[in-house]
Amino acid sequence: LRGDAREQQVRQSRILMGTVVEINVLDQDARRAQAAVEAAFAEMARIEELMSVQRPDSEVARLGRAEQSLAVSTETAEVLALGLEIARRSAGAFDPSLGRLKALWDLEGDAPRIPEQAAIAAALEGIGPQALRLEGLRVYKAHPELVVDLGGIAKGYAVDRAVAVLEQAGIASASVNAGGDLRLLGGRGERPWRIGIQHPREAGEVLTILELSDRAVVTSGDYERYFEQDGRRYHHIFDPRTGFPADAVQSVTLVADSAMLADALATAVFVLGPRQGLDLVGEFPGVEVLIVDAAGALHASAGMAELQR
Ligand code: ADP
Ligand code: MG
Ligand code: MG
Repeated sequence: LRGDAREQQVRQSRILMGTVVEINVLDQDARRAQAAVEAAFAEMARIEELMSVQRPDSEVARLGRAEQSLAVSTETAEVLALGLEIARRSAGAFDPSLGRLKALWDLEGDAPRIPEQAAIAAALEGIGPQALRLEGLRVYKAHPELVVDLGGIAKGYAVDRAVAVLEQAGIASASVNAGGDLRLLGGRGERPWRIGIQHPREAGEVLTILELSDRAVVTSGDYERYFEQDGRRYHHIFDPRTGFPADAVQSVTLVADSAMLADALATAVFVLGPRQGLDLVGEFPGVEVLIVDAAGALHASAGMAELQR
């Protein structure tokens, strides 16, 4: 090794999309690495501005207020297209039309509590895989009241975009982690990356370690955003059939090539539970899943063991 060929590491965190985003780049040229990290964060901020429901001017927020339809960017259309495909293929377990339900539970608010049953029923009215339709770049709503929410998929897309920007900047080795939505570019130098998967009940403990290169790893858990009432946990992934938080599992970890696909599938499997979840993931070649069910038991797809160390 020549002295000037040594790998430099640039590691930076920002708050984006309501979570801590960490980008880690290994490169021989620290200036190039630094510029690439800046560009990747800027791209994620751009995606957040398009798709966050928290931002009143975002396309997704405007779509929620639209009477019938709205023309959106290619980026939002791409995310919505996959979201609607996963909605269909998961029989509505994944549902980007449940924005009213999410707003009703208001888990990000100061004093979240269980909504009235009548309000839940009203928020579920008319939602489902058929409630939104995409024609080119125009999104049609089945009802004016429908509110779109891409919270279960957009973070994964933003991670994919960040990795694309790093790659365009000539980076060959990097990781982008948006609060559990993670994607790897290359390996960690010559070796695979070692990724610890958070244990859903033991804070700070690792459930398992995966060794991976060039793949996305996304975990959805009931331990990130929740409140407790009468000894029960109410968290942020909703079963669109009941309007209540899904209760079949504690966490779902998806491994796929794209973080957007892994993100959407993780949320879908969380709602479907172990049996139907494994069936759904089995329809996607090269995608692996690890599920911790409500009792703490593990369920994994056939190829998962090969990734575990
Ligand atoms: P995290 O936000 O922890 O990464 P997810 O990717 O599972 O977890 O996304 C959860 C978010 O997805 C919720 O905050 C909400 O915005 C949205 N969401 C909740 N339930 C569903 C669902 N059944 N289908 C699609 N999106 C959902
Ligand atoms: Mg998700
Ligand atoms: Mg996610």
